[in-house]
Amino acid sequence: MTRLVDVHNMARWISDNGPERCIAGMIEYIDADFRRWESFDKSARVASHTPFGVIELMPTSDHETYAFKYVNGHPSNPLRGYQTVTAFGVLADVHNGYPTFLAEMTLLTALRTAATSALVARVLARPDSKVMAMIGTGSQAEFQALAFRQALGIQTLRVYDVDPDAIAKFVRNLKPLGFSIEVAADVSEAVRGADIVTTCTADKQLATVLHDADVTAGMHLNAIGGDCPGKTELDPAILDRSKVFVEYTPQTLIEGEIQHQGEDFPVTELWEVLLGRKAGRTSADDITLFDSVGFAIEDFSALRYLRDDVAGTNYESEIDLVAAPDDPKDLFGMVGSFSPVG
Ligand code: NAD
Repeated sequence: MTRLVDVHNMARWISDNGPERCIAGMIEYIDADFRRWESFDKSARVASHTPFGVIELMPTSDHETYAFKYVNGHPSNPLRGYQTVTAFGVLADVHNGYPTFLAEMTLLTALRTAATSALVARVLARPDSKVMAMIGTGSQAEFQALAFRQALGIQTLRVYDVDPDAIAKFVRNLKPLGFSIEVAADVSEAVRGADIVTTCTADKQLATVLHDADVTAGMHLNAIGGDCPGKTELDPAILDRSKVFVEYTPQTLIEGEIQHQGEDFPVTELWEVLLGRKAGRTSADDITLFDSVGFAIEDFSALRYLRDDVAGTNYESEIDLVAAPDDPKDLFGMVGSFSPVG
């Protein structure tokens, strides 16, 4: 039997444990897996683009466990009553190829994206960072805020979204959790004086959500929303002034802020910083930019963490997913008892 965490049990697991505890555990799993980067099969994700959005498959394997995530990105979905991003994922045993663990990953992706952002910021942001500006307060936003509080102690948020209802929702969800939240009139006001800037907007265009003039020395930029060809958030001039960090360069060149910079543009991969092979921030004045697109190893880590954490609990159930006849050559025997028609 394949073990299953469905939407109901995922929500229960996060709610009962608290998102910050789940994110904290996930950060350590992502950190550990990125430190063994060379053991993984790596490829840019397989994307199917349509005018509506994108549907993607994200596979990886460490030669013991195989994982993939199915995920979509449809920026116009909320206007039609659907979410921008939904996902589910699978772990499989490499020795026989059987799926061992299946989980909803819409909620899990929000946790893993936030955990990855926080892990990166823990390494790259100035240690004295206190204030985060958040541009875009949609589905990912609360998880990002909680991750930055968990990993860096960020309590003060300055937020802006083009949709006032999204801001109201964000304030309603996070104010009771003890954050100090200032609602800004525009992006410039939100960003002024911030130590960290998270951009988490959804729009299928080369947008300039964050302008070069608003970015000052010492900031850490956590750019989440530019994650598809033709979908970016930053003024390209910002990239020229920043030290740019990516997950997996071949994928980020297709999907990230650097998609128009070309292969020669200097970037550092996160795993190289974690292993001390390359420098991260070298001065308090550096502008560090995490050009996040979301990489398969993060989903592998998130699923692995979830699988370990829910093992033997009632957050998981079983699903009969693999047809397994007693005689492995007699698949037909499973259906051979049907009554012939006529
Ligand atoms: P969402 O649609 O729920 O929220 C996006 C918010 O951005 C909305 O509230 C919208 O009003 C706001 N927005 C759009 N344009 C804006 C602008 N110019 N200025 C300010 N606000 C603006 O989407 P979501 O699920 O929160 O995802 C946000 C983005 O993050 C998407 O683009 C998604 O593809 C991306 N994402 C990236 C990763 C990753 O690993 N990098 C993971 C998940 C989602």
